[in-house]
Amino acid sequence: MQDNKKAYVELKHINKTFNDYKASDDVSFSVEKGKLIGLLGPSGSGKTTILRILAGLENADSGEIYIDGKQVNNIPASKREIGFVFQNYALFRYKTVYDNIAFGLKIQKKSRAEIKERVYELIELVGLRGFEKRYPTQLSGGQRQRVAFARALATQPHLLLLDEPFAAIDAKVRKELRSWLRELINRVGITSIFVTHDQDEAIEVADQIIVTNKGRIEQVGTPVEVYGNPKTPFMAQFLGEPVLIKDYVSFNGFHSASDGKTAVIRPEFITVRKKNEFNPYPVTTEEGVVEGVSFRGNGLELRIRVHNEIVIANRPIGQELIEEGESVNLFLHKIYLVDDDKDEVDV
Ligand code: ATP
Repeated sequence: MQDNKKAYVELKHINKTFNDYKASDDVSFSVEKGKLIGLLGPSGSGKTTILRILAGLENADSGEIYIDGKQVNNIPASKREIGFVFQNYALFRYKTVYDNIAFGLKIQKKSRAEIKERVYELIELVGLRGFEKRYPTQLSGGQRQRVAFARALATQPHLLLLDEPFAAIDAKVRKELRSWLRELINRVGITSIFVTHDQDEAIEVADQIIVTNKGRIEQVGTPVEVYGNPKTPFMAQFLGEPVLIKDYVSFNGFHSASDGKTAVIRPEFITVRKKNEFNPYPVTTEEGVVEGVSFRGNGLELRIRVHNEIVIANRPIGQELIEEGESVNLFLHKIYLVDDDKDEVDV
């Protein structure tokens, strides 16, 4: 396909039911060429099902799948030219790093010289020079996953599908691998879709996020869009660490009375001021009492009781300390009011 802006991968009205359970419910979305897409949603929301249908490992009950402008519904998995990386490495235990990466190329009956050149190119790409003779058991989890990426890329697939690729790796290495993956995809330029239930991972790495919920697509957008502009009550509550306040009624007019609604407040939308501090804002939006203070890397995390609910707010380091038991003023820069009966969000 010539036009980069045109959809490279497209799902249209995909439905899939497993024993009465709709794992995909009218799923439609499209992905531009070269983008890294995060498929994010709670457990059981249908992420893996979408990936498996795209890969050809599962048949949709209805709907159409297009890759590079071609409908692939009836093309078997092996002919779809897709690379995979799964969370459990799935490397061949009794093959070396070299042979693991070379596997697909051997099946394609490439010449020895061609295989050697490509494998070394990939070993370089994933930063594993010197490890080619090792077996998977002689590698760390992060190194194994890098071999899995090299193996998936070896045959130059059109599309890379990643199912929780870092789920089995400890937190620190996992963070390193995220930026490594971002850089890798930038360099290789391959269209990639990765499943994750980790919102930080999706927000940090993806160009676009597709959020799934109960088999349906809840919202599609850039990380900034899905985080900052939630389109549904589910979205307002799903991302970040929001505090939900039932039957929220605001004072001071800023958020007029909203009986019967739930307010969704995020820590980053709150500024906390001590009572004796200069208040640069015209009105006090709320008052609260600090019930807990803990130190975080970049400041204080405050647990503040407001209307018999606890909200979490942050106070940057360098400002005067706030102590437990203190009364404070809270300024809410933004608030989502959601009504679960209706499919809308007021901001
Ligand atoms: P997780 O994050 O837990 O992996 P997910 O969002 O990837 O979840 P799916 O694996 O797509 O969710 O599953 C969606 C629903 O479909 C689940 O309720 C699951 O039990 C069901 N399901 C998936 N595959 C099958 C199958 N082969 N047979 C029966 N039910 C299935």
